[in-house]
Amino acid sequence: MSTRKLIAGNWKMNGLADSLVEAETLSRALIEEPANCRVALHPPATLIQRMVASLKGGPVELGGQDCQAEASGAFTGDISAEMLRDAGAHLVILGHSERRTLHHETDADVAAKVEAALRAGLEPLICVGETLIQHQAGDAVRVVVRQVKQSLPEALKGRRFAVAYEPVWAIGSGQTPSLAGIEELHIAIRETLETTFPGSGAPILYGGSVKADNAAEILGGKEVGGALVGGASLRAADFLPIVRAA
Ligand code: PEP
Repeated sequence: MSTRKLIAGNWKMNGLADSLVEAETLSRALIEEPANCRVALHPPATLIQRMVASLKGGPVELGGQDCQAEASGAFTGDISAEMLRDAGAHLVILGHSERRTLHHETDADVAAKVEAALRAGLEPLICVGETLIQHQAGDAVRVVVRQVKQSLPEALKGRRFAVAYEPVWAIGSGQTPSLAGIEELHIAIRETLETTFPGSGAPILYGGSVKADNAAEILGGKEVGGALVGGASLRAADFLPIVRAA
């Protein structure tokens, strides 16, 4: 299993054909000077196939942002893990807080999607994180440990996967926990993973307002195995310094 850090960019519902140039610029920079870490982009599904073609097997890995648990069927508007794989994706983000909140996804839904991703040969990147109210109530560790236990199915044993700790209140807000606060949650996640998936070495990414100016400190934290980056992944000029900080 790879122990290299993973820096993943989540474009969310942003990006049209003219955004491909950002991925191409990133890829060219990483060909000229290879990164010390794995680098992935998760564009909207509409861009995956074109991005695969324009990056031509370069160093940037590509992933989806969600998938349906079923492989095919009457699920209008949904995309299956097999479809993402068919489009050229190798990873998929699952259980992002925007899916959990806006689409009411439960831990059981996320676990079913993880199984679907594995079935299709995708590497799942499973997101967990507490809300502001839970954070203020001192409940973060309990909530996040429960999410890890219930969102990660046993099928992950022996498979490559990653977990992203993303405090909901830090996403897109410009606020981040203290480094000690990040480390506390990452250590709790690692201990939880060790009970079910001993020796997995799965990287635990931090996500929530990671920018060029805080990346090095966060990525230097104990058990921080990379970053999941939203807003700052849309432009190569913003994303590259984060990759270089790993
Ligand atoms: C995210 O949505 O996963 C995220 C971390 O967003 P941002 O970096 O913009 O806070």
